[in-house]
Amino acid sequence: MGKAADWLREERRKVLGDWVALCLGCGHVQRYFAGGEDELPETCPQCAGTIRSRCPACDAPFASAFAIDCEACGARLRDPELFGSAIRRA
Ligand SMILES: [Zn+2]
Ligand SMILES: [Zn+2]
Repeated sequence: MGKAADWLREERRKVLGDWVALCLGCGHVQRYFAGGEDELPETCPQCAGTIRSRCPACDAPFASAFAIDCEACGARLRDPELFGSAIRRA
């Protein structure tokens, strides 16, 4: 069963991009491919907030649009309260 899920995840990565950048202001998500980080906007197209594409503590990129803590070092990536309200709005 795990293999099918892995395959699906891999397909998604190829289509949508390897990594995720997040707006700290509104939770806007932008996917990008490895090496395409230079093309990311510096500010959010929706709210002009700060776009974060790497962990502030260890510089690891994010693979999940729903990440709240860094997968590599556990540092907090964004405010989970804001994340929660963003989900409820949607
Ligand atoms: Zn934003
Ligand atoms: Zn980290």
